[in-house]
Amino acid sequence: MRRPTYQVTELLGDGIGAELSRAIHTLAEALPIRLDFIPVDLTLENRRARGQAVYDEVAEAITATRVALKHPTVTAEESPNAVLRRRLDLSVIHRPVYTIPGVPTNFRRELDLDIVRVATGGTYDDPGRMIGEDAAVSLRIVERRPVCEATRYAFALARRTGKHVTSASKYTIQRGTDGLFESVVQEVSRQYPEVSHRTELFDALLGKIIMAPERFQIVLVLNEYGDFLSDMACGLAGSLGIGASANLGFDAASVVRVALFDAAHGTAPDIAGKDLANPTAIFLALAMLLSQIGEIDAGHTVKTATLDLLRQGVRTRDLGGEESTETFTAAVAAEVSRRLAPRPQPATR
Ligand code: NAD
Repeated sequence: MRRPTYQVTELLGDGIGAELSRAIHTLAEALPIRLDFIPVDLTLENRRARGQAVYDEVAEAITATRVALKHPTVTAEESPNAVLRRRLDLSVIHRPVYTIPGVPTNFRRELDLDIVRVATGGTYDDPGRMIGEDAAVSLRIVERRPVCEATRYAFALARRTGKHVTSASKYTIQRGTDGLFESVVQEVSRQYPEVSHRTELFDALLGKIIMAPERFQIVLVLNEYGDFLSDMACGLAGSLGIGASANLGFDAASVVRVALFDAAHGTAPDIAGKDLANPTAIFLALAMLLSQIGEIDAGHTVKTATLDLLRQGVRTRDLGGEESTETFTAAVAAEVSRRLAPRPQPATR
């Protein structure tokens, strides 16, 4: 039987990027679907040689395939992530943060959050300026469109997964900006009556997540709050380098137009080429990509097989284990293949 086929743009990166790319291809071979990777060379060398033409090629490829997997890249003259965010109008970031077995953490509770962050505006689009010598000011921007996109994404995720949504801001103080955010959230939430939604003040939310993390599932926030919350949550889960994100761009109807998935860690130049790279984060990024293209079962299996093996002690050296990139990848691929193998049909007489 012909396997369903999907095209995926693969952005090749620096450092451990080549090893992670090999790991992804090995894992993809274990899936009952076919992923046709369209490679685009985003290494520093190629960016320096070809300049903007590389980003034109990336934009064209991702617009065609609609989904992309990005390997880590060196930030030198420019941050490829920031350039891609602007070029592709990636206005929302979805960052799942959860306790990962085998990842050391100071936090003893289980955490399982989906942080949905408006990725534009806030205070981040304006570096600010001095007023005289003793004061400075910066503009804080909140726009209806990206808030609407983030809200629809968060509520659709809640509808799909049965989770509930908490939106958080400082609407009692930042009445204009955060007031607009909460009013757009309220307005859009009416289209999802089956989804449970509550609102928290952002400062209170931080304390509550630490004290009772099980009370929170999908958290919807503006840009800078999402930035702070992601790092705090990753710190609690002990997984600063193990997480993955979806960077999302939307069409006029707030439907996902393009989605770029990447690992949180960088290019790890100290271990590049040594078969030591931990591919967990890029596997979790692939799991998200599979869910995005509708292969929910495959996505779920890639995630749970990876986490279950970590739990059983099958880990790379950075997590205190003995596995190399290749042996860990082979173990995950074998487990995924076993879990997704067609079940034998009972014999008919
Ligand atoms: P880094 O994440 O590359 O490395 C920090 C430490 O974590 C290193 O000791 C490294 O060996 C280890 N590490 C990271 N990923 C690992 C993995 N998958 N398996 C095992 N160990 C891993 O951070 P850095 O050293 O600050 O940055 C190096 C380069 O990466 C810089 O040029 C930076 O700009 C870039 N960077 C890129 C991205 C991205 O493309 N998304 C993100 C962060 C940093």
